[in-house]
Amino acid sequence: MIYLKTDQEIELIKKSAQVLGKAHAEVAKWVKPGVTTRQLDSVAEEYIRDHEGVPSFKGFNGFPSSLCISVNEVVVHGFPSTYELRDGDIISIDCGVKLNGYHSDSAYTYPVGEVSEEVLTLLSRTKKSLYLGIEKATDGMRMGDVGFAIQNYVEQFGYSVIRELVGHGIGKSLHESPEVPNYGKRGKGIKLKEGMVLAIEPMINLGKKSVVQEKDGWTIRTSDRKPSAHFEHTVAVRKGKAEILTTFEYIEEVTANTSLMVMAP
Ligand code: MG
Ligand code: MG
Repeated sequence: MIYLKTDQEIELIKKSAQVLGKAHAEVAKWVKPGVTTRQLDSVAEEYIRDHEGVPSFKGFNGFPSSLCISVNEVVVHGFPSTYELRDGDIISIDCGVKLNGYHSDSAYTYPVGEVSEEVLTLLSRTKKSLYLGIEKATDGMRMGDVGFAIQNYVEQFGYSVIRELVGHGIGKSLHESPEVPNYGKRGKGIKLKEGMVLAIEPMINLGKKSVVQEKDGWTIRTSDRKPSAHFEHTVAVRKGKAEILTTFEYIEEVTANTSLMVMAP
C-alpha cells in the first residue's frame, strides 16, 4: 500500500526535515579526529529533543541510537560507539526525525581530516548520483528511471551499487512502500505519482557490490572492506520537478571551506 500525501502532509514532513537538517549541522560541527561516534549521537539526540522532535531511529526495530554512523567500509546501520574518529576516515551519518507525526530521513558522508583523492571523489560522485536520481522522481516516471539514473552514472567509474539495501517511502512511518532501489531499468517498475514521498539513498561502493552483516545483527559492511558512501534526501514526487524536503544547506554552512566539504564532481 503506497500512501500518497496531501500538500498539508508534505508541509509537515518539511517541518520535520528542517529540524533534521539543523540536527545534522550540529553534528557536522563535531566531526573531527578524536571525537567518538557516541558523542555525535548525543549531539543529534539533544538537538532533536530540544526542538520538539523524536529521533526516528531510536528504538526502531530495537535500534539503540539516534544516528546510524557508518565508518569507512561500513555501509549503513553502524552503531555509535566509543570508536574515535581518525584522520583519513569517512563517516556516513544517517538521521531521522519525527515531528508532528511525520518522519524525515537524510544522510551525509563526511571526509575526516586528510582523505585520499580516490575516496573524496567517491563521496562527490555518490552525492551527485543522489541528485541525478531525484531528477527522475517526477509524476509519470517509473521507479526504474530513478535507479537507472543512479546506477548508470556511478558504474561508469567502476563503482558498484549495493543490491540488498534500498530507499523507501516515508511519512507517518519511517519505512513505507514502495522500495526505492539504486539500480534499475529505464521505463520499468511502478509508476511514480504526485504525492509519493520517497527517501532516495544511494549506497555506493568503491569496490565490489557485495555486503555482509556483522554479528551484531545491524552493521552492514562491504565484503571487500573497501569504503562505501551514502547520501540521502527525502523527496516529494511532483509534476515536472521533484521537491526535495530535507536539506543539506545547514550542513554545508558548517562544512564550507573546511576539510569536511564534499565538492561537486
Ligand atoms: Mg536514512
Ligand atoms: Mg532511509
